[in-house]
Amino acid sequence: METTTLENCSVKVALHIRPLIDNERQQGCRECVSVTPGKPQVQVGSHSFTFDHVYGNGGSPSANIFEECVAPLVDGLFQGYNATVLAYGQTGSGKTYTMGTGCSDNCQTKLIPQVMNALFNKIEALKHQTEFQLHVSFIEILKEEVRDLLDTESLGKTETSNGHSGKVPGRSPIQIRETSNGAITLAGSTEVAVSTLQEMAACLEHGSLSRATGSTNMNKQSSRSHAIFTITLEQMRKLHSISSSNYTSEEDMGEEYISGKLHLVDLAGSERAKRTGSDGLRLQEGIHINKGLLALGNVISALGDEKKRKEGAHVPYRDSKLTRLLQDSLGGNSKTVMIACISPADINAEESLNTLKYANRAR
Ligand code: ADP
Ligand code: MG
Repeated sequence: METTTLENCSVKVALHIRPLIDNERQQGCRECVSVTPGKPQVQVGSHSFTFDHVYGNGGSPSANIFEECVAPLVDGLFQGYNATVLAYGQTGSGKTYTMGTGCSDNCQTKLIPQVMNALFNKIEALKHQTEFQLHVSFIEILKEEVRDLLDTESLGKTETSNGHSGKVPGRSPIQIRETSNGAITLAGSTEVAVSTLQEMAACLEHGSLSRATGSTNMNKQSSRSHAIFTITLEQMRKLHSISSSNYTSEEDMGEEYISGKLHLVDLAGSERAKRTGSDGLRLQEGIHINKGLLALGNVISALGDEKKRKEGAHVPYRDSKLTRLLQDSLGGNSKTVMIACISPADINAEESLNTLKYANRAR
């Protein structure tokens, strides 16, 4: 087994195994995933995989995901590092449950609400020396088209880059652009300025409700789109130099500007289109979704290959809207965490195995 230390690897991969759900119990499903005690290792049939962490089903408690995988990215945001958290897996595997992008009750155990809490706690602790500005955007990518989930009158929209009027709420096309310094921007997306936890939570809730869902025979709430909740943090910090050793006289040295963003991504279901038993429109959606996930797999695999990375190998960001949008927050100085979600049920063994293989490629 290849030994990659987490420090020199920009992509961390965690596995989250949910418990059997009622629907699976009613079908008489058995568990087919086992975790090696004390190790981040799982077995499905004769296959064995090792990740950075394994949560649930006898692995570490799910409650540790935030502290171990995501809190470091929130800290990095305050230092100006971009980051991405990706929830990957078949429909029904627990992506939305893990991220909190469809949340109503018991939210505090889910990742995005925990991110928000940590963010505002840190801001509270630092606000005497630093001025903060927070913006939130929430978009989805469906059929290779980017759509705004926050574009409504009710949210107190503060700015849009294109200022269109008369467009259908929540359904305006958005352009992905790259600035001369390599930053990716979304022209035409709503950026909501938020100053409280409640305001940010309202954005999450609102966008989650507007998210496109399609009903397939795998899961009534099956979501065919990638949903991307992005928090941008800008800081203006007063710089002082301490001019004598007794720390009494400080000299104003001007200000330092730092900016970073964190993408929290609830990816579309990774199952093959044919398995959803869909046709027509929905099948087409499936094909496009696979394009984004395919490109993501290639990008992450290229980033994870240290040898190739040192040689400056091509990273195929341009192959899909998803990877294009995440380009400045995957690789380089940014940190990426992929949370692969699986069901433990035997009827899902094939898709779980596909997810494990995909996630394994990311390491
Ligand atoms: P996905 O977003 O991947 O399609 P969901 O997050 O909607 O999957 O989860 C599918 C079902 O499983 C939901 O009923 C959800 O409440 C349940 N579920 C998912 N993860 C867990 C978990 N860790 N513990 C308990 N129930 C879960
Ligand atoms: Mg979902």
